[in-house]
Amino acid sequence: IQWFPGHMAKARRQIEERLKLIDVAIELLDARIPLSSRNPMIDDILAQKPRIVLLNKADIADERITKEWIRYFADRKLKALPVESTTGKGVKEITEAAKEKMADKFAAMGRKGIQPRAVRALIVGIPNVGKSTLINRLAGRSAAATGDRPGVTKAQQWIRIGSELELLDTPGILWPKFEEEWVGYHLAATGAIKDEILNSEDIAFYILKYLIREYPKALEERYGIEQLPEDTENPHEVVELMEQIGRKRGCLQSGGSVNLEKASNVILRDLRTEKLGRISLERPSDFEAL
Ligand code: GDP
Repeated sequence: IQWFPGHMAKARRQIEERLKLIDVAIELLDARIPLSSRNPMIDDILAQKPRIVLLNKADIADERITKEWIRYFADRKLKALPVESTTGKGVKEITEAAKEKMADKFAAMGRKGIQPRAVRALIVGIPNVGKSTLINRLAGRSAAATGDRPGVTKAQQWIRIGSELELLDTPGILWPKFEEEWVGYHLAATGAIKDEILNSEDIAFYILKYLIREYPKALEERYGIEQLPEDTENPHEVVELMEQIGRKRGCLQSGGSVNLEKASNVILRDLRTEKLGRISLERPSDFEAL
């Protein structure tokens, strides 16, 4: 999806329209990049709606960091839960959290203890964060893709999940934030946006710097590196490491020098396929000021 101002306004309008139908909004984020995978206007869009935050793909994020994020959101009065939509881990806790949110709302209205019906919810998130996977997982079946059928306008459909939750079958799709360079790198590195938008060497360079600082062991083990650069602010040292990795992986071009683009793709592929272990690219301590 290419996001232009017109698309953004339309996406926002579509979600706001459907917010009228629901009790609780479920904001889906990528646990590896909770800030970059967050829509920049989400607080505004969801405004007064009771909300829960899900940190999806928790299976491939750094567990310790995910716990820090859950505290980060708690400090901001948002209940966040780790979820693995592909395996189903953490999924049944969603219903409980949604019920609690609705109970809170009723209590605030002076109707404590009354829960007259199933909680109605809408999942919202940026592309590729796992919305469809989660909906299918919650629904407990592989819901058929809703392709365009000529002449048929798709009505709003509810998916019943047990007796306590009802979910709108199509999620709300929002745009990621594009304001800063690091956001683009994080989105590209995790596969949320296509590589072609940014240069893969730039992405890999950025990621490598981060990995040297935060996950040195993963690099040493994966690539058999003995001495990592000490100064990640020195680009020559980082490029040298990239070359070292490329050489070990046979990413050579004619003449025998390292093909940095190939080396970059090795690093990014290893990151995305968990060959470097469970890695989170954003930690609350880096962003407390935001
Ligand atoms: P959507 O665009 O938000 O609907 O995202 P999808 O449901 O299509 O998921 C995008 C990609 O993320 C797919 O390749 C999924 O298999 C993958 N994915 C979704 N949830 C998880 C998860 O919890 N863990 C992992 N490892 N991958 C996931």
